[in-house]
Amino acid sequence: NSNNCSIGASTRSNGGDQNHEILHFDLSPLSSLKIQKGDITQWFVNGTSDAIVNAANEKMLGGGGVDGAIHRAAGPQLREACYKVPEVRRGVRCPTGEARITPGFKLPVSHVIHTVGPIYDVDDHPAVSLRNAYRNCLGLAKEKGIQYVVFPAISCGIYGYPFEEAAQIAISTVAEFAGYFKEAHFVLFSDDIYDVWLQKAQEILQV
Ligand code: ADP
Repeated sequence: NSNNCSIGASTRSNGGDQNHEILHFDLSPLSSLKIQKGDITQWFVNGTSDAIVNAANEKMLGGGGVDGAIHRAAGPQLREACYKVPEVRRGVRCPTGEARITPGFKLPVSHVIHTVGPIYDVDDHPAVSLRNAYRNCLGLAKEKGIQYVVFPAISCGIYGYPFEEAAQIAISTVAEFAGYFKEAHFVLFSDDIYDVWLQKAQEILQV
């Protein structure tokens, strides 16, 4: 229902893109899930209880893909804040499957939740790690009272996770947390991933 999608700058930045509507699924009376195409760094709701999720690496000091885009848009203060996150072991601030939270700095959102998805070919249990990454992000959002949270397709870039399996885990895990947030979004950067996510959401949520 594209009439139901007036929030977020990504709605506006998608304005010219008639081929990609924002799909809306009710998860519970309180919570909905939205799927859209766009650039996650542009997305916001109210700048107070909203967060974008960063697909970071264990060092948390920036990288390629969505991580690089988020650090560029947030400005150098984000890297400083990440640097201050205590290391759990040498060079590791956020182990795979865990999550950490920082302010959003120059981003339009109040918070960034950093998580580390599995490298598909390296992790012994990539499905467990990917589910943990989504769960720990949603757990942090719940703990911090964040009502609007948006995810990229964690691990679906450089980390090589197959899209369909990733979508199954992403959508089913968000659905587990229904009731604890107002809206969870997926903002997907490419047509192919957007299409897979839509199909999977329709399958799982039986719309
Ligand atoms: P990972 O290392 O977890 O695989 P990547 O950043 O390589 O992380 O990719 C994760 C996903 O984020 C990919 O689908 C990629 O296309 C997407 N992505 C890259 N830049 C952006 C952006 N600005 N907004 C939303 N998604 C993005």
